[in-house]
Amino acid sequence: MNLHSHYRGRFAPSPTGPLHFGSLVAAVGSYLDARAQGGQWLVRIEDIDTPRVIPGAADDILRTLERLGMHWDGAVMLQSQRQEAYRAALEQLRHGDWLYPCACTRREIADSALHGVDGFVYPGRCREGLPDGRTPRATRVRVASTAIAFDDAIQGTISQNLAHDVGDFVVWRADGLFAYQLAVVVDDAAQGITDIVRGADLLDSTPRQIYLQQRLGLPTPRYAHLPVAVSARGEKLSKQTLARAIDTQHPAHEIIKALAFLGQTLPDGLASSTETSNASVEEAWRWAHTHWDRSRIPRRRTIQAIDETTLR
Ligand code: GLU
Repeated sequence: MNLHSHYRGRFAPSPTGPLHFGSLVAAVGSYLDARAQGGQWLVRIEDIDTPRVIPGAADDILRTLERLGMHWDGAVMLQSQRQEAYRAALEQLRHGDWLYPCACTRREIADSALHGVDGFVYPGRCREGLPDGRTPRATRVRVASTAIAFDDAIQGTISQNLAHDVGDFVVWRADGLFAYQLAVVVDDAAQGITDIVRGADLLDSTPRQIYLQQRLGLPTPRYAHLPVAVSARGEKLSKQTLARAIDTQHPAHEIIKALAFLGQTLPDGLASSTETSNASVEEAWRWAHTHWDRSRIPRRRTIQAIDETTLR
């Protein structure tokens, strides 16, 4: 009998380059957490930030997941095809009088604002109306000066005061694109996601997302934020830090490294698997599906990526 068949998890990569170790950790964590609880695992391509999208990257990520034996449920959702849903959400917020147009440029904000948890705290200059002669650029949502708290399954209780830590934030960007914070909330609800397992680099975005869920009358999923792989210099592994693409010639080895990064205690046979004496993908998943232990995941926001030699 399956007690947790209502679990619906997801992996939501941005197609800004091939899958690398950092994004693989989020894929493996979300996948196993769903499968170990008999849940579904969906994939959504977050190609909303079109200037950052690399042609072919979405396909490349999907093919890599397949080669790693990570099979998703249902059709892949593409944010680039969801404009109508985002527009409707924006209308709903406008209707509730939560939105206002903002004329401020980045430079103007930088000149007058304090640093918050994620860039500058918007000082609210356009909150009561645009200054004379200014044209609107972006659309912001008004936030309240109350704490938004949630219990993260890995990182513990997180609390933020949006007014103090973030300020009124952008939901419709000056370049005419919907903001990630809005899209992710609309899409998680549309896909019926109950459990979000993703990197802790998004921990500080979660209160904004919960705030939007509340304004839009959408359910708040459970959250578990995984430690993020960083370089020796503390930078998140990304295309910019030249993180290398996942080696699809040795898929089991890549999975095993991600499992070790997530604190899972691998049996000797798997732990000693290397690129040359390779365990099979099936073997790795068979072990992981039954032994996945969320309580072993380090309760940290960042971890220096494991030197590959430690697994040889
Ligand atoms: N698209 C985001 C990323 O690749 C992840 C968003 C999410 O998981 O909510 O960093």
